[in-house]
Amino acid sequence: MLTALLNQQVFTTIHYSREELRGLRRKGASFICPHCSSLLTMKIGSRNIPHFAHISKADCELVKGETPQHLLSKQLLYDRVSSLHTSVSLEHYIRELKQVADIYVNTDTAEIAIEIQCSTIPISEIVRRSYGYHRQGITPFWILTQPLKSKKLLSLTTFQQAFIRYSPHLNYFLLHLLPDRSIFQLYSHLLPVSGTAFMSAAPITIPVSEFTLPPSIPDAPVHQPYSLSKWNDYRAKWIYNKIHYNKAKTDVFLREVYGEGDTFLYLPLYIGIPVIPHGIHIRNHEVEWQYYVWKDCLKKDRFLSVESVCKALNRRIFKGHIELRSLPLLNSDEVIKRIAGGYLRLLEEVQVISKVKDRYQLTESWHCPEHFSAFEQHKHDFFPKWKHILKKL
Ligand SMILES: [Zn+2]
Repeated sequence: MLTALLNQQVFTTIHYSREELRGLRRKGASFICPHCSSLLTMKIGSRNIPHFAHISKADCELVKGETPQHLLSKQLLYDRVSSLHTSVSLEHYIRELKQVADIYVNTDTAEIAIEIQCSTIPISEIVRRSYGYHRQGITPFWILTQPLKSKKLLSLTTFQQAFIRYSPHLNYFLLHLLPDRSIFQLYSHLLPVSGTAFMSAAPITIPVSEFTLPPSIPDAPVHQPYSLSKWNDYRAKWIYNKIHYNKAKTDVFLREVYGEGDTFLYLPLYIGIPVIPHGIHIRNHEVEWQYYVWKDCLKKDRFLSVESVCKALNRRIFKGHIELRSLPLLNSDEVIKRIAGGYLRLLEEVQVISKVKDRYQLTESWHCPEHFSAFEQHKHDFFPKWKHILKKL
């Protein structure tokens, strides 16, 4: 922690030099935790930022998550935000919530609590803390600083995915702080290709020195990450992995496909289309949930509507066959309806269904290719339409 009480006054280490702090320590100044009132020691190393620590492992809100990364992040953001706003406090205690915000900002129009998260905590804790802030009229702003794995794809744990946000300009995006480099990296246009791997646009770098609240995003052109061949490769890879690593007898999804007499390897290509942007809310691969939609609605009835697809999806969610991602920073109202509508619009564009008044009609009956050459023919017919819709996204 960076703040303590000294003679009943708030004292923040980042406002003093190491020499000044050492001088105070020599004089035997006694620093008290403002939250639990226990005695603190001051740590002044050469690598870490000077900070306070509890002498005994106290059950104190501020003992949690105090890694060097966390301390550095707090200092960087505090310095930046206090250069923009006058009323900014570090490690601010909110009595009504018994919660400490890493940084608390009171602007003319809003109260904002910045929460910097380095260590993994239960997502329910993010939900609980956010809910508390909202109840007090405070807007929480969560910042992720955990290192991310990013090669060709961005690989995100369930916890890291909880920091995904949405804006119409950036679609689904993740803002990531790298305190050692004093920069944020913004991964926009996230598109999952599995439960944990995402395609994204090339990350945009925002120096902490240009960070604002609310964050303003540089106008740099965003290079769309979606390409048909890439998507198709990942779709095929997912299918092969499913065959290799799952036993058809125990895998609920594969059992249903085989039970229907369909050939999993040659499912029509309109099963497994990315529903951009809101499809990200479903954790299962597109092949999986879109097949369920076909099995439950389209294969049965010639006519269907957004409502009937919603019902089918909700039933599958209830049964546990479809799982939604935990995205606590997002508004997930009506998300199933938007996904159902999005998928039907895509099917309409590839001319598999057509709109008749307020409902849809299948233009040809279900046909799953049974062998390689039939599938190659289907690919040949379908690819041009698919290319066309993916280009527009
Ligand atoms: Zn304490």
